[in-house]
Order: sequence, then structure tokens, then C-alpha cells
Amino acid sequence: MDLGIAGRKALVCASSKGLGRGCAEALAAAGVDLVMNARGAEALTETAEAIRAAHGVTVTTVAADITAEDGRAEVLAAAGDVDILVTNAGGPPPGVWSDWGREDFIKALDANMLTPIALMTELLPKMIDRRWGRVVNITSQSVKAPIPALGLSNAARTGLTGYVAGTARQVAQHGVTINNLLPGIHATDRAVSLDGGVAEREGITIDEARAKREATIPVRRYGTAEEFGAACAFLCSVHAGFIVAQNILADGGATNATI
Ligand code: NAP
Repeated sequence: MDLGIAGRKALVCASSKGLGRGCAEALAAAGVDLVMNARGAEALTETAEAIRAAHGVTVTTVAADITAEDGRAEVLAAAGDVDILVTNAGGPPPGVWSDWGREDFIKALDANMLTPIALMTELLPKMIDRRWGRVVNITSQSVKAPIPALGLSNAARTGLTGYVAGTARQVAQHGVTINNLLPGIHATDRAVSLDGGVAEREGITIDEARAKREATIPVRRYGTAEEFGAACAFLCSVHAGFIVAQNILADGGATNATI
């Protein structure tokens, strides 16, 4: 399917690895020029080079912390006007409710709620002026069904979801859509590090920890960054203009809910 977005420009945050990279690759495959970001310059440069070589699109890289005000300013200055925004950042650490104080919540809200909101606040007006835009926020399945150990993430991402639900309906009349893509367990560095934690706590191998988690997913495997990226690219396509303010699960059926 021709996604109809060749020649557009996208800012894909936190995209040197994992799900962000999957989104960047899928958009590049559709002919979209990219502004990519991550904190570590080395992996970012390597990923950008691989994408340029594979897809022949223009890729600008900015090594900066997207959750910090100065980092975000640097990224936005390099991005200029973009047609597509994919927000992403690392997730907060796991724990139990009694671990978390005000500072922990402020940090999580900054990273996973206020950062995507700040990016939208900056970039939506230009999309509205041009009467076309796409925003996809990478959130989590924990928005639909809480993951108790990820209380900081549950709280911050649900806040973002509430903001998107209202804002998406305010900007849709200008040809701009905002949707959230909710990953379940995907085979990225983050999943491997979570498997490592389970293995350590339960005295089992990482392979056993992975097999245990895979057994909880109806498709019996982890998702891939490529699958996730393809869903993101579709939401950014010309075909998705009637999909507004949705929270779309990519979780292999793991969230046990009727709707
Ligand atoms: P990942 O494989 O660890 O990749 C994270 C990417 O984001 C890397 O490129 C990393 O590069 C970059 N990054 C992290 N923090 C950043 C920051 N502050 N500023 C700029 N770049 C940053 O993680 P992932 O699995 O793709 O997860 C992406 C998001 O989806 C996370 O919020 C995660 O909580 C959420 N999620 C993931 C899963 C899953 O199963 N994978 C499930 C549910 C939700 P640098 O480290 O160099 O900055």
C-alpha cells in the first residue's frame, strides 16, 4: 500500500533503538525524511546511516535528552516545521507504590507526559497552518490495564492519554490527527532488561523468564519493532485521516478486554 506520505518530514523522538527506531524505519520506507533523536550519539549515528543507506531519505540526527528543556529545544530547532511527530522516551523504573515520592512522580510526569505535551504544543500550530499533520505518541498497554510494578508509568501515561483525548478533538478540524500507540511486550533492549530482572528475582535463566512472559501473550511471542513501526506508519499515512484520539494496542492480545 502506498502510504501517500513520501516527501513529508517527521520528527521521531528516542529512535536510535527499539520501538522508536521501528517507527523511523517504517516512515523512511514510505519515503519520509527524518529528524531522529536519542541521548547516545554513537547508536544514533549508526542507525541514521543504516536508514539513509536502506531508504535514501534525508536523516538529521540530534543527540540530546528529549525530556530535558535544553535537549528538547535543540531537537526542535533542528526539526523546524515537521508534518509528522512521533513522541517517545525511556519509561520510568519499576517498583512498588510505597517506593515513590513527589520527586519520582515529577520525573515520570516530565518524561512521559509533559515532554510529549511540550512537543505537541510547539509543533501543532505549524501543522494546523498547513492543514495537515500526524502525531503518534508511543505510550503503553499499561494505559488500558495497569501494570502494578510500573505505577509511575501508569500514572504519567494515563495523564497524557487524557490530554490527547481532548486535544485531538480540537485539532482534527484542521486535518491534524493525534493518536496513541500502546505497545505490549516487544523484543527490544527494554524487554531484555525486564527479563533480566525477572530472572534474577526468581532464580531462573533469561530464556526461562522470556518463555514465562511469552506464555502470557495469546500470540505466544514478543512483538517486533518492525510490526510496531508499520502500525505507526499507517497511523501517519493519508489513509488514517479519520482515525482520531484512539489508543491502539499492539500487544498480541495480551490485554484481556472485550473493547
Ligand atoms: P529501548 O529499546 O530501550 O529504546 C529506547 C530508545 O529511546 C533508545 O534509542 C534510547 O537511546 C532512547 N531514549 C531513551 N530515553 C531517552 C531520552 N530521555 N531522550 C532521548 N532518547 C531517549 O526501549 P523501547 O522498548 O523501544 O521502549 C520505548 C518506550 O516504549 C518506552 O517508554 C517504554 O517504556 C515503552 N514500552 C515498551 C515496551 C516494550 O515491550 N518494549 C512495552 C510497553 C511500553 P539513548 O538511551 O541513547 O537515549
